[in-house]
Amino acid sequence: MSDHHSEEVIVGWEHHPFYKNCLDVMSAAGRQIDLDPNVYQRLAKPRRVLYVSIPVRMDDGTIKVFDGFRVQHNTTLGPAKGGIRYHPEVNLAETSALSMLMTLKNSLVRLPLGGAKGGIRCDPTTMSRREKQSLTRRYTSEIFMLIGPDKDIPAPDVGTDAQTMAWVMDTYSAQLGYAVPGVVTGKPIEIGGSLGRVDATGRGVVYTIIEAAKRLNMDLGENTTVAVQGFGNVGYYSAKIINSLGCKVVAVSDVSGGIYNSKGLDINAARNWLNEHKTFDGFPGGDKLSNKELLELKVDILIPAALSNQITKENADKIKCRILAEGANGPTTIEANDILNEKGVFTIPDILANSGGVIVSYFEWVQGMQSFFWSEKDVNNKLWEIISSAFNRVYDFHQANKVDMRLSAFAVSIEHISKAMLYRGFFP
Ligand code: GLU
Repeated sequence: MSDHHSEEVIVGWEHHPFYKNCLDVMSAAGRQIDLDPNVYQRLAKPRRVLYVSIPVRMDDGTIKVFDGFRVQHNTTLGPAKGGIRYHPEVNLAETSALSMLMTLKNSLVRLPLGGAKGGIRCDPTTMSRREKQSLTRRYTSEIFMLIGPDKDIPAPDVGTDAQTMAWVMDTYSAQLGYAVPGVVTGKPIEIGGSLGRVDATGRGVVYTIIEAAKRLNMDLGENTTVAVQGFGNVGYYSAKIINSLGCKVVAVSDVSGGIYNSKGLDINAARNWLNEHKTFDGFPGGDKLSNKELLELKVDILIPAALSNQITKENADKIKCRILAEGANGPTTIEANDILNEKGVFTIPDILANSGGVIVSYFEWVQGMQSFFWSEKDVNNKLWEIISSAFNRVYDFHQANKVDMRLSAFAVSIEHISKAMLYRGFFP
């Protein structure tokens, strides 16, 4: 293996563009609230990282060894919490940046949880169910010492789903000899999952758009156009739920490209087509367009719901939406953010817009601990309460201090966690 490869996987995280971008936003937000420099120093690095190599016997009989990570960024407010990502580009720096965003997201919406993230550098789209199961179970046993209902609670992220969580839960439970549903969230309902968790991130995205539209005096109806980049869990449910409000979803995409229809797409037909054909190519209800073209469409609402680093200084000037609602984590760089502000785009930043997932994960964890389960209506109502009050806190800070929504969200979040960190103090 070349030096170049290992450098990509394990890198000084502060040199990685995405990690550095998170630090830049954090320090700019810190200046708004006179953040104690000691707190900044502490938040600038993850608390704990674990690298694991994961041998898997592939279907062709060979053993392939995958690289995996679990990063606990901060545990001041409670157990570490965050998803597990399966993607070919996963590396330690990206996982660490994502864990930092989890700390800030959880603090912003006032959950009693810290921040974490895990990941395996693999391409789940080319692996069989058996290979994915082996990978997940071995990864779980390698990170066994870090996770647990009071310590660190994984959830789905890009490339993982409820089935993945069921394998994590089963592997963990088998070690202890009894069922431990609280070790993960985003589980299937039958083994302790919460109603409303599967669509929670998309629902939260739409709830924050409803709040933003009120502030901007914008109607959400048949004349409202929406484009969604990414058609996984977050993109699909964002599109479906905003469509159910009457808005017209004119474009959606996945890795291989997208589809466009000025009259509005049939979201369920698009989903069925993608499930069956694994690509939007040939979809009869719309014309083809690239991911780049999708981002640059003139629409009222743009929802990037794929990966980080999609809106950069190269294309920010071409973005023509009124509201940018970040379903993905880290889709916009700090330079692009400045350009969008100048253009008058109203951004609902990732740690606010996509917090619905972890909010309902928190509900799942609470329901599991009490062995008392709520109705879907209760889940959605409580999600609305938490996310709309977080939106209000961020919007009020934005108005009062004349700073953009991203810096406001980070400032409001850091203000809360920094108080908690200072109360607890730096041991010893
Ligand atoms: N992976 C999701 C996120 O980035 C959910 C995390 C969780 O529910 O713990 O927010």
